[in-house]
Amino acid sequence: MTAPVIVPAIEELPAGTLRAQLPTPFPVGTVNCYLLLGSTTTVVDPGMMWSDSTSQLQAFLTVAGIGTADVDAVVVTHGHPDHFGAAGWLAELADAPVVCGRAELTKLRGEFGRTQRSELSERVGIPGSLRADLATFYDGVRSLTTPIADHRLLPVDDLDPIELGGRTWTAHVTPGHATGHLSLHDPAGDMLLSGDHLLGHITPNPVLEPDDDVPDGRRRSLSEYLGSLDRFTAMDPGLVLPGHGSAFTDVPALVAHTRDHHAARALDVLDIVRSCGQPTAFEVAIVMFPELEGFSRMLGVSEALGHLDLLEDDGMIMRVEGSPIRFRPT
Ligand SMILES: [Zn+2]
Repeated sequence: MTAPVIVPAIEELPAGTLRAQLPTPFPVGTVNCYLLLGSTTTVVDPGMMWSDSTSQLQAFLTVAGIGTADVDAVVVTHGHPDHFGAAGWLAELADAPVVCGRAELTKLRGEFGRTQRSELSERVGIPGSLRADLATFYDGVRSLTTPIADHRLLPVDDLDPIELGGRTWTAHVTPGHATGHLSLHDPAGDMLLSGDHLLGHITPNPVLEPDDDVPDGRRRSLSEYLGSLDRFTAMDPGLVLPGHGSAFTDVPALVAHTRDHHAARALDVLDIVRSCGQPTAFEVAIVMFPELEGFSRMLGVSEALGHLDLLEDDGMIMRVEGSPIRFRPT
């Protein structure tokens, strides 16, 4: 089955830019790894620390005439295991730095999947049985990643210039899918490496992310995500190379679709709140996505919370404090 697209796919990549679609054990399917050839060699998102994937990565480099030792820099768009799992391994073989958005450092050092262990999961209504399943899931996923040594990590901030392969890229560190998500823009080449921030076939999940330094102990991921989109509409790059799926263009159309999608979803969630009588975020997610199981349920909770945040910001619902937090119409 061909994946539905929001914007048309572009299959041809510019000279000096190669893509491998590396396998993951997750429902998302493959993850895109890019090789940027130039005066130096850069690998963007080297996939997971999983022999099925690292063998393909090595074959990909070999076909391009590159050995692992020839890699000069590794870029990780964000600290989700399908993107960064093998980065520590590759960086050691290559004696290369790992460039990432600063807020992703903790995850890249190996501390990810904290949600299920935190009070946060109780507050959003995730039952104890699912929390136990998630702990098992994350233990399995952790074995498919290598923590990255501190001296390898090269964090960047929003709008920092980054020299890679003789080109000057601009870092766009924008929260939403991951707090320190890094996209790289090459203004001269009119090209954006967008990680999972912009995808041509699905709307990125506003992943629930604990943050002890903000009210509620979590990021308002969807609100932050939507707030980050205008800059990409204004940028309107000629080519976007995403973390999953085909390359594409027409970011203004993609962003318009994304805003419409979330506005419609928020109204669906409002209906659910009205009909369920003070549901938790988890209960909203179960109604929205009854088919989801295991870790995918967490992604459903992230979606539900994102829309609950939007409705709360618009004054359509209010929270009923307690543990778990519940929501009711205003
Ligand atoms: Zn991804």
